[in-house]
Amino acid sequence: TPLYSSAASDVYKRQEYILLKLFEFTSMQITANNPDRKTWLDITKNTDFPIQNIPFGVFLTRDDVITIGTRIGDYAIDLGALHQLGYFEDIPLTDDIFLQDTLNDFIADGRKTWRAVRNKIADIFDVNNKTLQENKEHQKVILFTLDEIEMQLPVQVGDYTDFYSSEEHARNVGEMFRGADKALLPNWLHIPVAYHGRSSSIIPSGIPIRRPHGQKLPNGSDTPIFGPSRNLDFELEMAFITTAANHLGEPIPVNDAEEHIFGLVLFNDWSARDIQKWEYVPLGPFLGKNFASTISPWIVTLDALEPYRTEGPKPSTKQLPYLKSKGKKTFDIHLQVAIQPEGKEETVVSNTNFKHLYWNMSQQLAHHTVNGCPVNSGDMMGSGTISGPTKDSYGSMLELSWNGEKPIKLKEGGDRKFIQDNDTVILRGHCENKNTRIGFGECSTKILPPFKN
Ligand code: MN
Repeated sequence: TPLYSSAASDVYKRQEYILLKLFEFTSMQITANNPDRKTWLDITKNTDFPIQNIPFGVFLTRDDVITIGTRIGDYAIDLGALHQLGYFEDIPLTDDIFLQDTLNDFIADGRKTWRAVRNKIADIFDVNNKTLQENKEHQKVILFTLDEIEMQLPVQVGDYTDFYSSEEHARNVGEMFRGADKALLPNWLHIPVAYHGRSSSIIPSGIPIRRPHGQKLPNGSDTPIFGPSRNLDFELEMAFITTAANHLGEPIPVNDAEEHIFGLVLFNDWSARDIQKWEYVPLGPFLGKNFASTISPWIVTLDALEPYRTEGPKPSTKQLPYLKSKGKKTFDIHLQVAIQPEGKEETVVSNTNFKHLYWNMSQQLAHHTVNGCPVNSGDMMGSGTISGPTKDSYGSMLELSWNGEKPIKLKEGGDRKFIQDNDTVILRGHCENKNTRIGFGECSTKILPPFKN
């Protein structure tokens, strides 16, 4: 087949085609990940946001303007301003792509565009590139310090699904609720189990939430009572954000799934265990879960995580063909939870790793769409609580305190079975190898006393 129309008058089309091919070629390489690259911005060595990270987020600037941005060290970078000043002129982008309240349209542009933009940002802030480095006027409108901005939700989450993909977590919870012999339900090793959540209560880090009210069944009673949850818990999770992936009726093959994943955030799926325990049979979680989930505001792209690919657990039973993923389909991401009582020092209560998840993101997305369910740009897929194999690597207080039987001792502020009023829960995550460290920042939420009428 001819590469382009052979008509002599079709010069314009031909030029456009060559430009497109050039763009496709250059955007195949992830030059932004070059571990030797240094930035001219003044950043600390151990930052979560070196020039190799280049995450995407949305923030409110000191001038009360909402813009799409990225972050290097402790600088927030206004991509709308960079684009208006012509720094992305060789990338096919619409004029207003970064002048929006959400990343949904940018994400819908697809992987080639994300990759080209990350590569270009890395180039603009490379120590060897003098263009912006020597233009103080441009820097004034492009760069912000973190105290000048307020992070927003990075995407408008159309649909939110929460998986249940950690075998350790499923076994621990199953053992507590049903006994050790029935810990894992018969479908668990065959299906990446999930439920459809509620996107309206997903909030960015830093927004406090109130302890929820609900129905609870006191021990030994057969009649529920109403009141504030007493067993308020965090769930240490990560969530991935998708692009417009498929049409109604079209499944996504497991080994193509990563093409449709933009990136990851830390995700705290707040849970009221007493409300959950009474309501969850037969249709699963409802009000015990949908009062709030907190995310870290910077989406770290799958491209940035590329150097930290690793293998997940080996399947312990034969998987159906549509769930068989090839190669390294997960990432080595260290995860941590800390509890900070008001005015006191924080205590780290858990250290675990994303790689422990039994079902990887590709399997989750393949399963989610195998019946033809469409997935849209900005959809969010929670991993489920990520528990590790040891008692200090569990991803919830339910497991760490074993349903309140073994309170966790804090450095300051007493001990905890669950989360108390005015406690702040902080999730952190980062990848590290001998060259670079890529992190997610913080996912932090303070619990306020229950709402009073
Ligand atoms: Mn969850």
